Amino acid sequence: MDIRILGTAACIGQPGLTTCLLLGQDTLLDCGTGCGSLAAEEMLRLRRVLLTHSHIDHCGLLPLLADVHACLRGPGLDVYAHEATLDALRKHVFNGCIWPDYTRQPAPDAPWLRLKPVDVGDTVALEDGLATALPAEHSVPALGWLIEGPWRALAFSGDSATCPAFWQRLAGTPALTDVICEVTYSDERLHDAQQQGRMVPALLGSLLPQLPANVHLWLTHIDPSCREAVMQQMLNRCPPGMHTCLLKEGTLIEL
Ligand SMILES: [Zn+2]
Repeated sequence: MDIRILGTAACIGQPGLTTCLLLGQDTLLDCGTGCGSLAAEEMLRLRRVLLTHSHIDHCGLLPLLADVHACLRGPGLDVYAHEATLDALRKHVFNGCIWPDYTRQPAPDAPWLRLKPVDVGDTVALEDGLATALPAEHSVPALGWLIEGPWRALAFSGDSATCPAFWQRLAGTPALTDVICEVTYSDERLHDAQQQGRMVPALLGSLLPQLPANVHLWLTHIDPSCREAVMQQMLNRCPPGMHTCLLKEGTLIEL
């Protein structure tokens, strides 16, 4: 399974699109503005979306993606997320005011968006692998995701503070080769990170010895004003030999 990175940014107005990963050809992991770089034919090939949480930089393009399926008569999408995330989407987005209620249109028993609640440990079958919901700790209910392909496994933290249960789960995953982790702020903004349920290099660095040394660590969701400081501080925090780099749009990761 190829994972194509469509968006990794924490905000717009700088080069970069917000969080969205294409798993194979038919699944999105989060649906930030990176989704907008897909052509309509690619959007119509999608069958499901896995969400980490309800913040708009991670799900803001879901209404417009649903619109493509509705207007061009696609098959619609299964949306897997925490029950609280789905409730927020129903209540605040697909409410007939912000956007049509595609969770009940064109028919309540066969809508364009089929909302599927998941919790930690639940799995979703992919075309060429398996997705498992992982624990996360953020300012709203959130999940990470473990993506297992035919040969390798990748973990994505979503937006999360340290969340010991996430890192314990990773330590028990022998096939793990890649970890995508948010590091929004530099160490100087630890207080902001703690208030918002986010990571800084000092926190992340203290967790990395739990990972196998051959894991490739990809850093994402860095606040543009902190980018250079985060990269410098991560260089000093990573265990020797751990391959660490900035996750960029267009990157392909093969599992
Ligand atoms: Zn968030």
